Amino acid sequence: MVKERARILVVGGGYVGMYTALRLQRRLKGELRRGEVDITVVTPDPYMTYQPFLPEAAAGAISPRHVVVPLRRVLHRCHVVIGEVTAVDHATRTATVTTLATAEEGGAAELLGYDELVLAPGSVSRVLPVPGLAEYGIGFKTVEEAIGLRNHVIEQMDIASSTRDPAVRDAALTFVFVGGGYAGVEALGELEDMARYTARYYHNVRPEDMKWILVEASDRILPEVGTELGRYTVTQLRRRNIQVLLETRLDSCADRVAVLSDGQRFPTRTVVWTAGVRPHPLLAATDLPLTAHGRLRCTARLAVDGVEHAWGAGDAAAVPDVTAAEPGTETAPTAQHALRQAEVLGDNIVHALRGEPLETYAHKYGGSVAALGLHKGVAQIYGRRLKGYPAWFMHRVYHLSRVPTFNRKARVLAEWTLAGLFKREIVSLGSLEHPRAEFELAAGGKPSPGPSDGPKGSS
Ligand SMILES: Cc1cc2nc3c(=O)[nH]c(=O)nc-3n(C[C@H](O)[C@H](O)[C@H](O)COP(=O)(O)OP(=O)(O)OC[C@H]3O[C@@H](n4cnc5c(N)ncnc54)[C@H](O)[C@@H]3O)c2cc1C
Repeated sequence: MVKERARILVVGGGYVGMYTALRLQRRLKGELRRGEVDITVVTPDPYMTYQPFLPEAAAGAISPRHVVVPLRRVLHRCHVVIGEVTAVDHATRTATVTTLATAEEGGAAELLGYDELVLAPGSVSRVLPVPGLAEYGIGFKTVEEAIGLRNHVIEQMDIASSTRDPAVRDAALTFVFVGGGYAGVEALGELEDMARYTARYYHNVRPEDMKWILVEASDRILPEVGTELGRYTVTQLRRRNIQVLLETRLDSCADRVAVLSDGQRFPTRTVVWTAGVRPHPLLAATDLPLTAHGRLRCTARLAVDGVEHAWGAGDAAAVPDVTAAEPGTETAPTAQHALRQAEVLGDNIVHALRGEPLETYAHKYGGSVAALGLHKGVAQIYGRRLKGYPAWFMHRVYHLSRVPTFNRKARVLAEWTLAGLFKREIVSLGSLEHPRAEFELAAGGKPSPGPSDGPKGSS
């Protein structure tokens, strides 16, 4: 039984935010009904993104709507506020929140009081000061970016097919991915596979006309699946004519020319940046303790270290890995940890409210699965290594079991089944990004730049 009314504020509606709120609304059902507890989730988007499905969404194997989970539907006992927390003053238990309405009204940000804080804004792309990157780079963390990238790749094939200028054609058919973690490798593997398939519908674009390049600063890719499978992946990608450049960095992409540290230059309209993540900048706008790397310093019980009534988990938090042999190891920023931490975190808030002892988060990393295109993949599960079709199949089984809600599972499974029976989708709906353009033209206005005109989102 909770002694007094507790206002719980959850910052972020991703893995940690959604699963923590789900756990809390399930375990505190009675308290919520009696008005003893109140849960508010503040997040910029009304949905949680199942990020491991982004590469398949980019390849067109899963519809964008099925990669996201509507928060208002699953968190029906919580208040979902679409907005951003811009600062937290834990000493006074207040968070500063901006919403679409505050922007519309031109008013000041709102102050939201709370008693328990769950800080889970995740991470942002780790961007380096590479010339041209801010103008031309494309990220791969959101569903909008994944779908934008799909449209962009198909559009480049259209440009290549219709131009008479060999330089334009060459740049359009050159695709550079920077970063060999699973976001970069899976995105490249799926998109190359999709483009190779799509090329059969073009009379003058052949798969061998395209240049797909993966640039990785270290001497290996996919560290998540281990050294041997990382090496195997390099061999597989190279067999597909993908250039994998290890111990190489992107020095510049100014003027739409990718210049690499080994001196190679590739004129290109596509530079996808997946070179790791860093903790969300919101953390620095709080009075909570951070590590030298800017992550929220947490204990293995997922409480913020030395601070009462503040909790953290996921990409934003530095949580000690109590299963690691080496002391001082932190849990990796993966969905695998985020999801399990959220469950323990939810339980620990309930324990704290009820005056019960807290649980310790302990999860031994079970391995990783990665898809490299249709029927291709690598996996390492509890020490067992899988390659090719079995790994790809395992990837699908694992993620189908993990994607939240039965509704999503059924829809994703139906899509995969239909895709197996019919041909793959090869259409680009780039004009969706500018739905008013045609009407603006008809009405005599000046149409806003199309997907290929501006540097951002089209580069
Ligand atoms: C392409 C891709 C593929 C991946 N594949 C895998 C995989 O196969 N396996 C695996 O284990 N991991 C994978 N990951 C990593 C995994 O998705 C992350 O580790 C996980 O999402 C972390 O969960 P989180 O809750 O900490 O952050 P997120 O899920 O990113 O959630 C953060 C939330 O906070 C919100 N937010 C941001 N700023 C604010 C603010 N100011 N105020 C309020 N809310 C805010 C965001 O909108 C978001 O909803 C992948 C990641 C990517 C990008």
